[in-house]
Amino acid sequence: MSLPIEISSDHKQMIDECRALSNEVEPFSIEADESSVMHAPTLDAFRSSGLSNLMVPAAYGGRFDEVDPLAVCLAREVFMKTSSHLDSLFALQGIGSYAISRAGSESQKEEWLPAVGKGDALAALALTEPIAGSDLKGINTKAESTNDGLILTGAKSFISNAGSASFYTTLAKEGDGYSLFLVPADVEGLTVSPSPEIIAPHVLGELSFDNVVLPESSRLGEPGAAFRHVLATLSVFRISVAGAAVGLMQGALEEAVRHCSGREQFGRPLAKHGPVATLLADSWSDLESSRLLTYQTAAMAADDPEGNLDRSSLAKLTATEAATRVVDRCVQSMGRWGLIRGSKIEKYYRQARPMRVYEGASEVLRLGIASRLVKELGDGS
Ligand SMILES: Cc1cc2nc3c(=O)[nH]c(=O)nc-3n(C[C@H](O)[C@H](O)[C@H](O)COP(=O)(O)OP(=O)(O)OC[C@H]3O[C@@H](n4cnc5c(N)ncnc54)[C@H](O)[C@@H]3O)c2cc1C
Repeated sequence: MSLPIEISSDHKQMIDECRALSNEVEPFSIEADESSVMHAPTLDAFRSSGLSNLMVPAAYGGRFDEVDPLAVCLAREVFMKTSSHLDSLFALQGIGSYAISRAGSESQKEEWLPAVGKGDALAALALTEPIAGSDLKGINTKAESTNDGLILTGAKSFISNAGSASFYTTLAKEGDGYSLFLVPADVEGLTVSPSPEIIAPHVLGELSFDNVVLPESSRLGEPGAAFRHVLATLSVFRISVAGAAVGLMQGALEEAVRHCSGREQFGRPLAKHGPVATLLADSWSDLESSRLLTYQTAAMAADDPEGNLDRSSLAKLTATEAATRVVDRCVQSMGRWGLIRGSKIEKYYRQARPMRVYEGASEVLRLGIASRLVKELGDGS
C-alpha cells in the first residue's frame, strides 16, 4: 500500500528495515504475543536489527538528530501488525528513555542513551501506582533528601518491561512537587513481582521501593519538574499508540478481506453481500482516516514536540477507538472463523482493547481535548 504522505528516503529505508525485522519475528510472533515475560528470540532479533537507534538522539548513537515522532509511528505500524510483543519492546525504549534525552545530565545521557540505542539497555517508565492511574498527582511514592542521599519509598503497578528493564524512569513526590528519578534495576531495595495477566499478554510487573538509596545525581532535570517531562514524553509517544493502532487495523482488515473474498454464502462471496461490504468499507474508512491523522500529528510533533500534547491525544483517541470498531467488524464478517482462539484476528481483537486504557484512557483524553477546543474555538475560558 502506498503511503498517504511524502516521506523521506530515510523513512523509506527505515520502513524496509522494520519490515525485514517483522518478517524475521513473524514465525514466532504468536508465541511472543502470548508471553508476559520478555521473549528472548524477539529481543535478540530486535537487538540485531539496530532499530532501537530510532529512540535516541544522534549525539548518543541515534539515527535521527532527535527522536522523530513520524519515524516512531511508521515503525510501530509495521511492528504491531506482526507482533504486539515486538511493538511494545520497541515503544518502551523511547517511552522509558525520552525524559533522559530531554532533561538528563550529560553523565546520565552518556551512561544510558548509547546502550538504549543499541538495545543493550531496556527502558521503562514507572508512573502508575495501585491507587493512582489517571490521577497521577495522587501517587504515594516519595523521595526524600537525607545525609545518606535520596531515599525512595513506595510502589508502582502495571509497569511495562518490569523485570527486564535495565532502569526505571520513576515518578515520585518530592516535597510539595513531583520529580523524576533514574532508578537502575539492580539497586538494593527494589523488588519486582508479576502483575495480573491481562487479556492480551504484555510484559508487566509491580515494583516495590523499600528505602532505596539513590545519589542526588539520579534526579532527572530540576526538582519539581516531573510533569513537564512526563507530558513531553506523552506528547511524542501517545501518537505512536495511534501508529500501532493503524498497524493493527491494517492487519485485521487484511484478514477479513481475504476471508470475505474467498468464502461464498448464498452463491456469492461474503464481500458481495451488502451488509458485509458495509462492514469492510466502514473499516477501511476508519483505517485510512486514522492513518492520515496519525501521520499529520506525528509530523506536527516533530516541529513542536511540547506544544502537541492535545493533538497527540486526539490522534490516539481517534485511532484506538477506531481500532476497536474495526477489529469487531472484522471478527463479525468472518463469522465463526473470527472466533478461533490463537488465530490472528482473535489476537488483534484482544490486543485492541488495552490500547484505549494505557497512555491516557479515552475518557481522560476527551477532557483535555475538549478543554483545548474551548480555548481555541470558544470564549477562551
Ligand atoms: C498493557 C498496559 C501497560 C501499561 N504500562 C504502563 C507503564 O509502562 N507505566 C505506567 O506507569 N503505567 C502503565 N500502565 C498503566 C496505565 O497507564 C493505566 O492503566 C492508565 O493510566 C489508567 O489508569 P487506571 O487503569 O488506574 O484507570 P483509572 O484511572 O482508575 O480509570 C478507570 C476509568 O475511569 C475513567 N476516568 C478516570 N478519571 C476520569 C475523569 N476525571 N473523568 C472521566 N473519566 C475518568 C478512565 O477513563 C477509565 O475509563 C499500563 C497499563 C496497561 C493496561
